[in-house]
Amino acid sequence: MLAEQLEQQFHVTMEQASAGQLYAAALALCRQRQQTLPTVEGERKLYYISAEFLVGKLLSCNLMNLGLWDQVEEELRRVGSSIAALEDAEPEPSLGNGGLGRLAACFMDSIATLGLPGDGVGLCYHYGLFRQVFDHNCQTEQPDGWIEPQSWLRDTGREYPVQFGARQVTGRLYEIDLPGYGNTSRSRLRLFDLVGVDPGLIREGITFDKTDVAHNLTLFLYPDDSDRAGRLLRVYQQYFMVSCAAQLILEELAERGFSREELDRHVVIQINDTHPSMIIPELVRRLTEEGMPFEQAADLVSRSCAYTNHTILAEALERWPAADLEEVVPQLMPVIRALDALAKRRHPEPEVAIIDENQQVQMARMDIHYGFSVNGVAALHTEILKNSELAPFYRIYPEKFTSKTNGITFRRWLMGCNPQLADFITRRIGPDWKRDAAALTRLAQWKTDCESLTELLRIKAAGKQALVRALAAAGETVDPDSIFDVQIKRLHEYKRQQMNLLYIIWKYRQIKAGKIPRRPVTFLFGAKAAPAYRIAKDIIHAILCMAAVIRQDPEASKWIRIVFVENYNVSWAERIVPAAEISEQISLASKEASGTGNMKLMLNGALTLGTLDGANLEIADLVGEENFYRFGRPSEEVIRLYADGGYRAQDLYQKPEIEPLVDFLLAKPMLRQGDAEQLGRLYQDLTHKDWFMALLDLEDYIRVKEQMLDDYEDRNGWASKMLINIAQAGYFSSDRTIAEYNRDIWRL
Ligand SMILES: *Cc1c(COP(=O)(O)O)cnc(C)c1O
Repeated sequence: MLAEQLEQQFHVTMEQASAGQLYAAALALCRQRQQTLPTVEGERKLYYISAEFLVGKLLSCNLMNLGLWDQVEEELRRVGSSIAALEDAEPEPSLGNGGLGRLAACFMDSIATLGLPGDGVGLCYHYGLFRQVFDHNCQTEQPDGWIEPQSWLRDTGREYPVQFGARQVTGRLYEIDLPGYGNTSRSRLRLFDLVGVDPGLIREGITFDKTDVAHNLTLFLYPDDSDRAGRLLRVYQQYFMVSCAAQLILEELAERGFSREELDRHVVIQINDTHPSMIIPELVRRLTEEGMPFEQAADLVSRSCAYTNHTILAEALERWPAADLEEVVPQLMPVIRALDALAKRRHPEPEVAIIDENQQVQMARMDIHYGFSVNGVAALHTEILKNSELAPFYRIYPEKFTSKTNGITFRRWLMGCNPQLADFITRRIGPDWKRDAAALTRLAQWKTDCESLTELLRIKAAGKQALVRALAAAGETVDPDSIFDVQIKRLHEYKRQQMNLLYIIWKYRQIKAGKIPRRPVTFLFGAKAAPAYRIAKDIIHAILCMAAVIRQDPEASKWIRIVFVENYNVSWAERIVPAAEISEQISLASKEASGTGNMKLMLNGALTLGTLDGANLEIADLVGEENFYRFGRPSEEVIRLYADGGYRAQDLYQKPEIEPLVDFLLAKPMLRQGDAEQLGRLYQDLTHKDWFMALLDLEDYIRVKEQMLDDYEDRNGWASKMLINIAQAGYFSSDRTIAEYNRDIWRL
């Protein structure tokens, strides 16, 4: 199959082909197959609109979904290569930031696999988020280009004008086909690019002229918004995305033979977080310009749009000064004002106003008033939305609120990244679980079967070996017999990588005091910090400094090691997840909406060390107390502490158990590795503010983590817990999540 493609494309044999030619041929093979699959048509069509789609590399998963994987792998094996080797040549598009973007990608896989009529809609950033490079123990940012002459993108040639006041730019539609697993149809990612985008604007790192919007709109995802030009640029980008999307949606409505008045019957738009919220006023604007009365347009759009909330962090809830919107999208502001006025007539309470008393446009509020559904992304998160963050809205619209616990695609996060484990499962319960993940529970019957448990441990050891090889290629030596303790996720104070660091400092001091652990531990981190998020970068700096301190200490380095992978992305996750043994899910309770990293790691047999936050709570319920390592204050207590301002970092810092750990940040060994200003800032923050209460849970965290390391020594007991975790992970398949969205919201 690949041989014919090579012959056709390059006139070479499998033996003669270069690695580049093999990759190009495999890409072309997939693209041809995918394009012959029909898209799903239906009475009602879903547009999943999102600023991010963190799809990861596509070759291996597409071959799997198309049913070509075995055949192509066999052809490659005969010439000493493999699909994995080819995929090394594929650049990973960094079209997302973290969990939210990865969720959108998992959802597209499930939408395609379930054969639902739905496409993803977003932007085609040429340089994605950024590529993280460590320099002198600090994060620096570089452009992360991924568009090559041969890529997954297909140019449709369709263009859409977008108006910013008097200025007009043009969006061009590109598509990436997404074949469903074992399916006869496909979905598409439909990504808009700015015609005339100019990479020449990029200067040092990822800085560029933020004011030249006619040439910069699709250069980067989330450009630095610490100044006004950056904030305006985000509005420009968002409007560019939704204006193109609105035109596409209305065009396809007409192409499908439906009238504007039937919009709500034939279109459903899932707004993934607030970045695409302006789709609401933009659709209303276009409908009214065609002559539809305002209230009818607002009503139709409201019955077509549904909103997913991803965070309760106040600083992450988007709001734009009305004056900024007036400047960027003057044609849209009258519509937003009219929507605001109508909402205020119906609901005059100031806390639900779209345009608030500070003349800020509150995007989430617009989504809730003018959408028919609001969902949180895990049970606890939705409860917190209803009872605190969005309580005034829940009182007005209780019927709009629904909970949809996130999920992950098992194609990528088990069958793709851990074929040995997938095979282990299939040999015991048959292949049904691949289409119906709930069937995984049948695996639990092997929880005391010695042979199965031994094999499970062997598979984990092989996953660790494979990661050790990948790390060696990146210049890191790791002991494959050490315990792999993993925290991989965006760097954010609420996720509390700093608390993990304080544990490592504690452990280091224990070793220096002669308390030797039973077995070496490797602490693996992967995390990017937002370029303008100073304290997050300080935390990265402190972890990298601590890594160097340990590395240079002949005593401690025998027992502990920190490995911080550079440029954490989907490809790294696919290597780390099968190797992980301890899954660090240590966010401050109430702050992590769901998490999906927790699901990937559980599915691959890591045990969770976690707070009762987000989906951790559901994981703990499913696997039971004895198979989950819980610590920390519960969310109600944390919410109360915030409400009454009862948390005092200083008081906790003064405890004799805690003070030396925090002080170590400024001890001589650290200062020899790093920068006193950055370390000092983190020290100051932890001792005087500690907004996400790392010191509050630190002692409990240390206690439970030590318990976990002890329990690890009972290898059969540990393996049994692993097996239970895998068996209970079926609930977290994104196929289940998407089936629920469809049943309760989309009704496709
Ligand atoms: C799954 C995933 C995330 C989300 O991780 P959380 O632990 O849920 O925050 C972020 N980045 C990448 C690359 C992922 O694959």
